[in-house]
Amino acid sequence: MLWVAIIGLVMTVLAVAVAGRRAIFLFKLATVGPPAPERIEYAKDNAGAELKAQLVEVFGQKKLLKWTPSGVAHFFVMWAFFILLTVYIEAYGAIIQGAITGSPDFHIPLVGTWPILGFLQDFIAVACLLGLVAFAAIRIKNSPKTLGRKSRFSGSHLGGAWLVLFMIFNIIWTLFLARGAASANGNLPYSAGAFVSIPLGEVLPRSTLLEEIALLLHIGFMLVFLVIVVHSKHLHIFTAPLNVLFSRRPDGLGAASELRIDGKAVNFEDEDLDPERLGRGKIADTTWKGFLDFYSCTECGRCQSQCPAWNTDKPLSPKMLILDQRDHAFKVAPYLMAAANGGSTAEANPHADTDVLALLEKPLVGEEGVIHPDVLWACTNCGACVEQCPVDIEHIDHILDMRRYQVMVESSFPSEAGVMVKNLENKGNPWGMSEMKRADWIEELDFEVEVVDERMPEDTEYLFWVGCAGALEDRAKKTTKAVAELLHIAGVKFAVLGPMEACTGDPARRLGMEYLFNMLAQQNIETLNEAGVKKIVATCPHCFNTLANEYPQLGGTYEVVHHTQLLAKLVDEGLLTPITPIEEKITYHDPCFLGRHNKVYSQPRDIMSKVPGVQTQEMHRHKDRGFCCGAGGARMWMEERIGKRINTERVDEALTTDPDTVSTACPFCMVMLGDAINEKKNNGEAKESLEVVDVAQLLIKSVKSAS
Ligand code: SF4
Ligand code: SF4
Repeated sequence: MLWVAIIGLVMTVLAVAVAGRRAIFLFKLATVGPPAPERIEYAKDNAGAELKAQLVEVFGQKKLLKWTPSGVAHFFVMWAFFILLTVYIEAYGAIIQGAITGSPDFHIPLVGTWPILGFLQDFIAVACLLGLVAFAAIRIKNSPKTLGRKSRFSGSHLGGAWLVLFMIFNIIWTLFLARGAASANGNLPYSAGAFVSIPLGEVLPRSTLLEEIALLLHIGFMLVFLVIVVHSKHLHIFTAPLNVLFSRRPDGLGAASELRIDGKAVNFEDEDLDPERLGRGKIADTTWKGFLDFYSCTECGRCQSQCPAWNTDKPLSPKMLILDQRDHAFKVAPYLMAAANGGSTAEANPHADTDVLALLEKPLVGEEGVIHPDVLWACTNCGACVEQCPVDIEHIDHILDMRRYQVMVESSFPSEAGVMVKNLENKGNPWGMSEMKRADWIEELDFEVEVVDERMPEDTEYLFWVGCAGALEDRAKKTTKAVAELLHIAGVKFAVLGPMEACTGDPARRLGMEYLFNMLAQQNIETLNEAGVKKIVATCPHCFNTLANEYPQLGGTYEVVHHTQLLAKLVDEGLLTPITPIEEKITYHDPCFLGRHNKVYSQPRDIMSKVPGVQTQEMHRHKDRGFCCGAGGARMWMEERIGKRINTERVDEALTTDPDTVSTACPFCMVMLGDAINEKKNNGEAKESLEVVDVAQLLIKSVKSAS
């Protein structure tokens, strides 16, 4: 048995050395960029939430299990890695004990002969095998060769994935061979429980040589697999738990990440601020968290399959956005590391040709860059990618940091958005209308609405944040008036800021114009604080998200609710009673910044369910898999020149439910869906009576005509 131990240990030392060398390389590469101390601080401060995320997402595989059957298959394969560690302890124990005593009948102390452990090992190995079969079937069914762009694996490294499945298969069959041979020789630690290995031992010959060769094969395949893992997308086995640990909680959605330089939040009033370092312009500007995202991507394509841009034939795939950066980083890795250590690229490789050296300076975004501008500007910030990613990759953070560099350093962004930026700078709203028009809608009501004059009136509970669209856009104004009327009927005291309200800055921030966002946010926070505002109700999910989740980054902390949350509560409390039936088939469109970004899914549906006569019909893509209207991420202010229009795609889906009305809870969605519906009507593809309304409009219709 001595030769077995020698071969086994030599193989192990060699494989661990190769894997260790790779691990050191990956660590060094990940730390060439700026630091991200906030990620460590945050993980420390939120230890409870982080522990829960590890239990639920990593061990419980919550996100993956949303995708049955691939989630179930992955669950068993992942748990096989943990449970089969005990088999490897037994295998190493057997070769070492065999070398020392000549008898390889090793068992783990205390628990090592328990039938339950033997059962668990065999069970998880069989489940893993079935998982591999499921994976293979899923890969064949979803092959890019047959589905083309519609395959979530389109663009992924397919050969590597098959190699990994093959290696895991090798580990499992050699496991059974080794355990069966050990059982035949009386060396298996279990006399019961191992329901595959023991019967296998009964058919295998008694042979020490067979047991030794099987043990070496089992160990050998695992070691080769280890080396493959650290050189492939399967690196996620080690990096995914770390990526989950250092991701923004609860899920990387909601607030946009803060703009930072060297880990410190940017203060635009700082005289020492280096304006060339705003955002990410080159791969060297990537923090270790960004690299952890690169290392963790499993190339599963779940993000790509949900992306509204990808689904309407635009060049943006969130998966490829990560993979293209990763591939580029690996290409220039030696030079990046040499430069980070103060050396020259020539030192890293004196024979490097000039093409390779030029790669180091390659811009992250550009016609000749790593990411094409059409990719960068196609994103609606809808969050579908972040929501679905099983390893918590934060695509939007990558996109926003690249946009920030493009906008603030390069002044390079779609020209149409420039008009919106100018309007925000000059008039405080994207339409460039006078702030005096912000209170015009009040005149159309038949009751008084308090407009804040410096301080909130004493007896008011809520500040009603009307938003630019709600105050100035005709369709959205209907929602504003409906909400005001409903609050009035329910006896909720509220006031509005009127001309003192300015855009929250959401479109500027999502465009990458952080400076302008900062300016508008500071101005609004000052107004709100001086007025003594504590509670806010907002109709626009973008305003809601910014006020609730982003203003705290700048010191503005308020209790913020969306109007659907407040209205659902008022209906529940009996302060609003929908009585008049609305006999309509209605399909509800989830606004991304209300649903995915803030998890408000039930309240709009609850309101509709209380309106008598309403028959609701869900679209295929709804709630956390809802499909964007195309307006987020400042896309509302840009032309959509490539592929099918996102709003048309969404309305096509709505039409499959044959609705009388499409409802939503966002002024931007109203505009986008309304435009697409009008186009459909003009083409004769939708009935003339079809309209898009806010759920507040439905509610007032039912409540008011009864009162
Ligand atoms: S946020 Fe939405 S549009 Fe942007 S990459 Fe992700 S899925 Fe695509
Ligand atoms: S980014 Fe996440 S969801 Fe997208 S391919 Fe990679 S692991 Fe899958």
